[in-house]
Amino acid sequence: MARPDILAPDFTTDPWWWTAAPRPPATDPSPVPETADVAIVGSGYTGLAAALTLARAGRDVVVFEANEAGHGGSTRNAGFVGKTLKHSFSSLFHKHGKDYALAVYSEMQQAYDRVGELVRTEQIQCHYEERGRFIAANTPQHYDGLAHELELKHQHLGDEFEMVPRSATSRALGTEKYHGGAVIPALASIHPGLYQLGLLDRTISAGASVYDHTPVEGVQRDGSSFEVSTPRGKTRARNVFIATNGYTGPATRWQHRRVIPFRGFMIATEELEESVLNRLIPKSRVVHDYNNNLTFLRRAPDAPRLLLGGLTGTMSDDLETMGGRLRQRLIDIFPDIGDVRISRSWNGYCSGTFDLYPHIGVQDGAHYALGYCFAGLPMGTYLGEKAAHAILREQKPDTIFAEREPPKKWWYGGTPWFLPMYMAHLDRLDRKGN
Ligand SMILES: Cc1cc2nc3c(=O)[nH]c(=O)nc-3n(C[C@H](O)[C@H](O)[C@H](O)COP(=O)(O)OP(=O)(O)OC[C@H]3O[C@@H](n4cnc5c(N)ncnc54)[C@H](O)[C@@H]3O)c2cc1C
Repeated sequence: MARPDILAPDFTTDPWWWTAAPRPPATDPSPVPETADVAIVGSGYTGLAAALTLARAGRDVVVFEANEAGHGGSTRNAGFVGKTLKHSFSSLFHKHGKDYALAVYSEMQQAYDRVGELVRTEQIQCHYEERGRFIAANTPQHYDGLAHELELKHQHLGDEFEMVPRSATSRALGTEKYHGGAVIPALASIHPGLYQLGLLDRTISAGASVYDHTPVEGVQRDGSSFEVSTPRGKTRARNVFIATNGYTGPATRWQHRRVIPFRGFMIATEELEESVLNRLIPKSRVVHDYNNNLTFLRRAPDAPRLLLGGLTGTMSDDLETMGGRLRQRLIDIFPDIGDVRISRSWNGYCSGTFDLYPHIGVQDGAHYALGYCFAGLPMGTYLGEKAAHAILREQKPDTIFAEREPPKKWWYGGTPWFLPMYMAHLDRLDRKGN
């Protein structure tokens, strides 16, 4: 339990984002339709981006969601819109060569661009802003590594950046904690809850049906179609798209064995003075450090509050205690912030894969996209649309992320018992400053 005095009177364990984007009320528990062209499992960015594209192309689409619409990572994340994978550009460049690194990162750019374009064309009011990102170096080695990575990206991808030496850090972040860092101006942020709600609204307006509180219990191939079983009945669909990412369960066993779910945690502070916020995070950029297990930080786009996330992979659902730990992290970064209280502490599941790449593909006729390793806001949107186009054209998805299946391990059945050891290993590397 956290000390009660650090919890603000309005404290809850709902994501901050649900304040402006409350989850839609449950729909009528009517039986599911007997038939559909496409059945989609999951109502996050991946499922909805696919559903919107397919419904606009005239397909009869049904989306099944186990909980309330948008229950998953899509309304719980930090809202950083980026274009970086767990595999850095330089590591791909040095290991697999220039062409491969360029192919992967040019798709990251397309995914990044697609979010901005979708927000504009669909007129989704979700605080999409390209204010840039500050990456803080935890050690001098980080500073050098960051400079090498960004210089290589600049040479080959044209991405702009500015290194900020330690002596000038306060221009980017109101703390003495870091060894400088880098500003990347062309990176955006978003209100993830409003983005998901906007996609949901456009998807329903395009004619798709969304069945919330309808967990898919099984997907059976039956000749050239699928039988999708739920507690509200069965739907026969010509195509199925599995878009469950970190919430993937045994109902889709093949995917369950290949995706590694892990918890991410965030807090929102009570309201702070504008002058304090301007000093702590000048220019309202989003911020993260350069550790293997990142701490990430931003201003709420819709209130004078700070949001901080981290401790990813911790196996805990005690959100008061986790909130207390994140609050301490905030105070470690900004010691002069004083006795700040927290108004929200929440978590959500993201997912990784054993090769640390996102994956999209077709398994026994069923389409899937998952395993975004923290880049799911742009990649979920992008790969959801790619899956929809693959269904429409009856082709394999047209992207480098479809080239390989997500690997499996004989000893892994879907419960990531090894995460505490893996995270402890990353924390050790971070303490050594590697
Ligand atoms: C704390 C945190 C911070 C993050 N920060 C960022 C960030 O800043 N930028 C970024 O790019 N990414 C970030 N991510 C990752 C990002 O949120 C996800 O990658 C992304 O939301 C995945 O979208 P999705 O649609 O694939 O899955 P989700 O949004 O997780 O949706 C999957 C849905 O499937 C449903 N489901 C599961 N099983 C079934 C079933 N059997 N039947 C019916 N429905 C089912 C679930 O209930 C869930 O709603 C973060 C994640 C977390 C948790």
